[in-house]
Amino acid sequence: MFDTLSDRLSGIFTKLRGKGKLSDADIDATAREIRLALLEADVALPVVKAFIFKVKERARTAEVSKALNPAQQIIKIVHEELIAILGGEARRLEFAKTPPTVIMLAGLQGAGKTTLAGKLAKWLKEQGHQPLLVACDLQRPNAVGQLQVLGGRAGVEVYAPEPGSGVGDPVRVARDSIEHARRQMRDIVIVDTAGRLGIDQEMMQQAADIRDAVRPDETLFVIDAMIGQDAVSTAEAFRDGVGITGVVLSKLDGDARGGAALSVREVTGQPIMFASTGEKLEDFDVFHPDRMASRILD
Ligand code: GDP
Repeated sequence: MFDTLSDRLSGIFTKLRGKGKLSDADIDATAREIRLALLEADVALPVVKAFIFKVKERARTAEVSKALNPAQQIIKIVHEELIAILGGEARRLEFAKTPPTVIMLAGLQGAGKTTLAGKLAKWLKEQGHQPLLVACDLQRPNAVGQLQVLGGRAGVEVYAPEPGSGVGDPVRVARDSIEHARRQMRDIVIVDTAGRLGIDQEMMQQAADIRDAVRPDETLFVIDAMIGQDAVSTAEAFRDGVGITGVVLSKLDGDARGGAALSVREVTGQPIMFASTGEKLEDFDVFHPDRMASRILD
């Protein structure tokens, strides 16, 4: 992840080493190269434009620092602006005043929702919570089975329609699960929903109906970091169709160019809260914008 972008940026900064004061022409040339590197990493154009504007403005008006040479100063500015587009501070989950806290997961098929549901359940259980997993992806063959396997591994109960019960309505499963959670004294309900390979109206409506049935405290949009330029339209569709309160980046272990990761905060206006970095339940962590920015500039 980010290998090409990291290499490109470090090449750009190397050229500045040994320079005395940077002229406006130096700053412009550097900004142009950073712009290209970000575009090649599939970062969305409006995000790139805003980023470059800020870097240029700050580089031009930066106080001459005794501690930092010009190259270091630009690196510092880029680092801080990367943290800003990744969301600044990490945000924690919001818990309901009256349990259960309901966390709904939304995203395209294959984004990593079901895997994430298991990871989140395990992580919350380790913190002393009593989560319940709810299988509302009744579309994808074996999504329920997959969640049951993950729930088994995490030691967390999975609420799902009985096989052969004829219950095929995910909205009903979602609604009933909240009652079940109350009876079983679960303090967190994690609702896995169905995705499609592409955005479609029916899928969005189903997610919106589930949302209305469970009134989530958090609606987390799970997005595959490998998705590239499609990140923007996908994120916008979920933002407008379901309403999201946070983002989870999945498959950060892959060799994606990083565009989705760098665009999604700005596009959705919502914080990236968790990062998924593999297929195992442990491959999961709270998202730290500063750590990711440092990784890009490593
Ligand atoms: P869903 O359709 O959104 O529920 O997606 P799944 O959770 O079924 O994930 C789709 C595929 O991606 C599965 O093969 C997962 O094992 C895999 N997967 C999920 N998250 C990650 C991740 O963070 N890294 C990697 N490498 N694979 C992942």
